[in-house]
Amino acid sequence: MKFSKLSFYSNPVQEVITKISLNFRKILFKNYLQNLGPGYYQYNLQRYSGPHRKICYAAEKSMYFNINGNLTACCRNRSYILGKYPENTVREFWESEKRKELRRTLKANDFSKGCFQCKNSVENGNFDSVQALVYDNIPTDKKHPTMLEFALSSKCNLNCIMCSDECSTSFLSEQGSSLEKGVYEDSFVNQLEEFIPHLDQVRFFGGEPFLIPIYYKIWERIVAINPDCKINVQTNATILNDRIKELLKKGNFIIGVSIDSFNKNTYETIRRNANFEKVMHNVEYFAEYAKLKNIHLGVAVCPMKQNWEELPEIVLKCDKLDANVYFNPVWHPTKCSLFFLSSSELQQIYKKLYEIKLPDMLDIEKKNKYHFDCFLFQLTKWQQEKLEEETIWKQLKIDKNEWPNIVLQDIQIVLIHKIKMYLTEKKNANEHEISIQINKIISVLKRFNDGPLLRETLLRLIEIPPEAFSYDILNDRDPDSP
Ligand code: SF4
Ligand code: SF4
Repeated sequence: MKFSKLSFYSNPVQEVITKISLNFRKILFKNYLQNLGPGYYQYNLQRYSGPHRKICYAAEKSMYFNINGNLTACCRNRSYILGKYPENTVREFWESEKRKELRRTLKANDFSKGCFQCKNSVENGNFDSVQALVYDNIPTDKKHPTMLEFALSSKCNLNCIMCSDECSTSFLSEQGSSLEKGVYEDSFVNQLEEFIPHLDQVRFFGGEPFLIPIYYKIWERIVAINPDCKINVQTNATILNDRIKELLKKGNFIIGVSIDSFNKNTYETIRRNANFEKVMHNVEYFAEYAKLKNIHLGVAVCPMKQNWEELPEIVLKCDKLDANVYFNPVWHPTKCSLFFLSSSELQQIYKKLYEIKLPDMLDIEKKNKYHFDCFLFQLTKWQQEKLEEETIWKQLKIDKNEWPNIVLQDIQIVLIHKIKMYLTEKKNANEHEISIQINKIISVLKRFNDGPLLRETLLRLIEIPPEAFSYDILNDRDPDSP
């Protein structure tokens, strides 16, 4: 294989400057953010590029285009929508008042505009899953975005057990529906052209990115106009053809593969339609590519009921591949998500995984062990949350095992009780504020007709942390509206 020599740093001078600035930041910004509350001081110290003045730079550096044409600052902030394509042009997004407003809000370290996930991850000590980390290291250019993120299509060849028709077209074809039509066409690619020279980094998500035709058009433009631009692609590693190999040679690609097991049976049970041997062959190719570029391959893992016992083995395999492993928490479906286990089951999993000692001599081993420890920390948080929830059920004398027979009124009581506890303990709300918010929730609930859908929705709401839905419900807004 012969690839262009470019590595993660554009040149050795930049690498040295980055390292010096890291040391300066450690001295200058050490005490920033600590007035925001528990977790923030520690988070700031542990950021990969050292402490910063602000918690998030997404709105001043980047734009995220999603499959419906919605534009947001990042993939996690789905409720604060900056505009919609094709009604707005890419330039209009960049110049929009809403983006400036979000930028001002984040400058004040205020998370009220849809940033509950980052807030939650920092306050729960799950620093590894703070999305804001992605934007720390990206350079700033006041006039242009320096990063763009794309999730333009859900075209995918797999049918993974934790996925759904929202993310993969294979579910649509399975259901007999026609394949989704993207809103993005050639004129979108043309509009990107004026931004490409200023980009430091772009990120592509699917579906499966290597199956999405418009991505090839964007990659070809980037490679022609700004070959130094880092092109991150998160792939399921099932597709590797000559066209991709040619692009990899010309561009500065950073590949992340999604693998949830290195065991054929487990892998093919989770990643339905994939062929284990073929994927492993492709992973080796991508690992070799990363090595030649002097960067690390990324391996994204979904820890679930089906594969949690194999997680230490996955870490060891990634150490060998010289790949960075990342654990993405899985919240649904219930048949996969560890979050839906009882507190005692979570405790047992934690105990078993904690007892396994992972190596931490080499740099890559240290990093991967840190990511694994962050995942274990997430488990302890979930376990505590479950314990609190189980206490509520007990206090209300409702047996959770009786769920199928629970009347709607009882579900509403538990939900309101849970939100009250959240407002009191986490938001320090007084009784008056609580009664205003609860009345809002009751009025939202009254709009729905009693039925299986409402029951199902309320039961799901009881299961997830109130932070995850409070912004939309308490502010009475539709998350998909601009
Ligand atoms: S969700 Fe996180 S990364 Fe996204 S804009 Fe908000 S703070 Fe930044
Ligand atoms: S590869 Fe990704 S998008 Fe495709 S089905 Fe699996 S999880 Fe969904």
